[in-house]
Amino acid sequence: MPELPEVETVVRQLEPEVEGHRIERLEVLDGRWSRPVPPERLGAAVDGAKIEHLGRRGKYILMELDGGRTLVMHLRMTGNLILRDGDEAIDPSEGRRLYESERSTEERHLRARFVLDDGRELWFTDPRRFGEAFLMKDDDQLAERFAKLGVEPFSPEFTPAALGEMAAGRTAPLKSFLLDQSKVAGVGNIYADEALFRAELHPLSPAGSMKPEHVDALRNAVIAALEAGIDAGGSSIDDYRDARGEKGSMQDEFLVHTREGEDCTRCGGTISRIVVGGRSTYFCPNCQVRLRRRPKRKRARS
Ligand SMILES: [Zn+2]
Repeated sequence: MPELPEVETVVRQLEPEVEGHRIERLEVLDGRWSRPVPPERLGAAVDGAKIEHLGRRGKYILMELDGGRTLVMHLRMTGNLILRDGDEAIDPSEGRRLYESERSTEERHLRARFVLDDGRELWFTDPRRFGEAFLMKDDDQLAERFAKLGVEPFSPEFTPAALGEMAAGRTAPLKSFLLDQSKVAGVGNIYADEALFRAELHPLSPAGSMKPEHVDALRNAVIAALEAGIDAGGSSIDDYRDARGEKGSMQDEFLVHTREGEDCTRCGGTISRIVVGGRSTYFCPNCQVRLRRRPKRKRARS
């Protein structure tokens, strides 16, 4: 499932390729992608638009169009956004006439395609079909839509003080706290495990039990884990591919995630797997400290 580093990788690859280009037409082949807006209506609204910029907010891809509008896309579980040269792009109507087995995996899972003014195509493929797109008419609507989305980990707002404030009084385990998109945006199951290992914190520690030094360590660890993911071009455990259709290599560099039973690189202990909030969670029980719930702080007398 793509998280911030995977989305960032795609955006960084695509941005210089598509910026300034015009979308000749957008074909939405799956109504689930654009719902509740009918596919033809979204297509018609975007046809002819110029791509001013491609950016990211949390795990969302923001395609800024002329006229102040933004087409927002989310890859969800298995979505990919892949740029294809015009000559390898096949007319889907043509493709449908082929036997299912003769069509490439990408063609079979094609949900929407952007035909650019130079003949290249941008394909949104998605086997599980949870990916989605919606058009925001201006910055106000966009801001409203993202009002409840948490802080960007690479922004100056992601300070130890801000993280400490979010965690204060929370009894939720640190793992669940990190997955909550209304706190820190973009961190998912992989990078939450990796960040907690780097911070030497047990995933079941209550978020509100962190002392200032733990908050500092966790903030730095979140940034370091996400940066490692971006440097490796993201992780491809299952379906994720970058904008060129290639796998990332972060899965080969995981410190704990999916490494159950292997040796901890820090202390030589054995990596364990538990389930927290329904999600597989990997950690080293030997060197990740389980914090106790802190008693409520007494107010200073004035
Ligand atoms: Zn360890």
